[in-house]
Amino acid sequence: MKSIPLFIFFVTFLLSSCTTTPTGRSQFMLVSEQSAISQSATAYAQTMDGYAKKGQLSHDQKLIQRVNRITGRLIYEALIMRPDTRSWKWSMKVIDDPKTVNAWSMAGGRMALYTGLIEKIKPTDDELAQVLAHEISHALAKHTAEKMSVALATTLGVIAVSAATDNRNIATGASAAALVAVTLPNSRVAETEADEIGIELAARAGYNPHAAVTLWQKMSKESGGSSFDFLSTHPSSGKRIERLDALTTSMMPYYEEKKPHPVYPL
Ligand SMILES: [Zn+2]
Repeated sequence: MKSIPLFIFFVTFLLSSCTTTPTGRSQFMLVSEQSAISQSATAYAQTMDGYAKKGQLSHDQKLIQRVNRITGRLIYEALIMRPDTRSWKWSMKVIDDPKTVNAWSMAGGRMALYTGLIEKIKPTDDELAQVLAHEISHALAKHTAEKMSVALATTLGVIAVSAATDNRNIATGASAAALVAVTLPNSRVAETEADEIGIELAARAGYNPHAAVTLWQKMSKESGGSSFDFLSTHPSSGKRIERLDALTTSMMPYYEEKKPHPVYPL
């Protein structure tokens, strides 16, 4: 019975793979953050290579500079919040795809923004900062590694079942998991964490916290009947706008603090 030792191995692996977030929440971690970062590096390079070949990397210098300036201010604050991320290869690419309303981050601060989000939502700089700060926060809180763990657990389950006849390498699953992770919805708990970290990051970088409220109001208004990729991977509870609104008062001191806002070079 080959399947029994495999099953025991799998369960042992699962039991030894829980960590906690800075907020004290227990995270299911089959993939270490370091592993998620290295797998994401490969997945990001492949994804961007694909967009480059299709001519879909934006050449709109005005937009790229705007996105990089906002992202750079946010990253500067992220480095203060989590100094070990200085070793990350922070990256941002603007994808020329006016039909796709989306933005995502992979482990290690590799991000993408689609022009559809700019064209459909028409965000102010403060609102765009909320989107990008939310993405940075997913990376800071290791949500990518968490989603990859879920994707990998599924893949591992498949591998365990077929292992007797198929000698596939688990690393293949991990690589695929990095790609799959950006298409998986975040849990609502992860969404709340990213909202809370994001609004603070944006405020510290000098972006108005009230924009978090107007951003999500625009998202729900503009989506109408169509489903935005951003909304399906960042599911909103009915309480999101109320929760963000309640946070703005405590964020105002960070926003109103008179200090320089250096831009991390991208
Ligand atoms: Zn999210």
